[in-house]
Formats: sequence, structure tokens, C-alpha cells
Amino acid sequence: MSDRTRLIEELRGAIGDERVLAAIAAVPRDVFVPEPVRAHAWDNTALAIGSGQTISQPLVVARMAELLDVQPGERVLDVGTGSGYHAAVLAALGARVWSVERYPELSETAARALAAAGVEGVELLVGDGWDGLPQHAPYDGINVAAAAPEDALAGLAAQLAEGGRLVAPLADGEQRLMIAWREGRHVHRRLLEAVRFVPLVRGTAG
Ligand code: SAH
Repeated sequence: MSDRTRLIEELRGAIGDERVLAAIAAVPRDVFVPEPVRAHAWDNTALAIGSGQTISQPLVVARMAELLDVQPGERVLDVGTGSGYHAAVLAALGARVWSVERYPELSETAARALAAAGVEGVELLVGDGWDGLPQHAPYDGINVAAAAPEDALAGLAAQLAEGGRLVAPLADGEQRLMIAWREGRHVHRRLLEAVRFVPLVRGTAG
């Protein structure tokens, strides 16, 4: 069994959405990780990508994608490009993605990886995603890949379109995965399992 097949079989126990499993199988994670850890690219673990940041565990990417429930053609904001892998999975689900990263060098590496993987439909921006990207709002989906406090998530949810979903780790002492969705003027939310992410940090880096 290939490493890729083994990972998909492992995720199948926790992830019911076959579209998400197909997207994880389709995106070459090895292209998004640095050379020294490439042998572990298809392990179900987070890996260091430089600048003190990590590429998320595949199970967490799959879980967040399943919660976000992206449909083809939907507009998605991805906060925290990192390696670009999560953005690539969202694009594989048919989304048009705007992905923002505060480290210019990570964004540059992500751009090369996305090109090498032949991913289309992802626009990378270098900057502070704390306040989202109002210039491209509203979004059908907002994916936050760094642990964010309540007020930051409330600000991001203001950029959701009607029916739009936001998935993020909420930093509130501990970290919990959160899904929020907009219905008219109301934003509903549900707190889910405990997770572990690097923090959302204000301002650009480097
Ligand atoms: N989605 C990434 C994992 C990212 S880790 C992947 O698939 O590899 C979280 C990323 O969020 C880090 O790269 C970090 O630099 C970035 N980040 C943290 N605060 C940010 C902010 N305010 N704006 C933009 N990016 C931020």
C-alpha cells in the first residue's frame, strides 16, 4: 500500500465526506513540505515548515474542510497560508481561494509549491489577516489556520456572506475548533473538539 493510500485509509475512520478524502488524495503533500521532512509527508502529523510555523496534521485539514463544506465555485478566505497545503485542498474542492500569510518567505515558498503541484484558483497575499481581507469579502467560507481570540473571529465572521461558514481554532485559555455560520444578521456558532495550533499574531513579519 502506498503512503498516500495508507493516509486516506487512516482518515476514513474519522472523515465521512468522500469529496474531502478525494481532495486530500489529490493534493501532493510532499510538494508542500521542506526537503528534510519529505519522507514524512504522508504521515498523519504536523511538520515544521520554517519561520517557527507548521503544516497542519492531515486529519485536522480534512476535518476543517469537512466542516467548511465548500462547494465548487464558492469564495473562500484562508488566513495563515503557511505551506499553502490547506489552501490547495480547498482549491481541490472547487473553491476560489484568497490566502493571506504574514511571513513573506512562507508565502513565496507556498507560491512555488502551488505552481509545482499545478493548483489553480489560489491567490496569495502577504499581510496581516487578523482583520480578514475586506477587499474580497463577502466569503462563502473562511478558514483560519491559527488560534484566534474571540474578537478576531467576530471581526472575520462579519465578512461572511449569507449562509457562509467560518472554521477556526478559538483560543480561549485552551484551544477548541469552532464553526460559525451566518443566517441573516445572526452569526451562530458551535464549539467542537480541542485542537493545537500556532497562534494568530497581529501585524506582518520579516
Ligand atoms: N494552513 C497552513 C498551516 C499554517 S500554520 C498549511 O497548510 O501549511 C498558521 C500560519 O498562520 C503560519 O504560517 C503563521 O505565520 C500564519 N499567521 C499567524 N498570524 C497571522 C496573521 N495575523 N495573518 C496572516 N497569517 C498569520
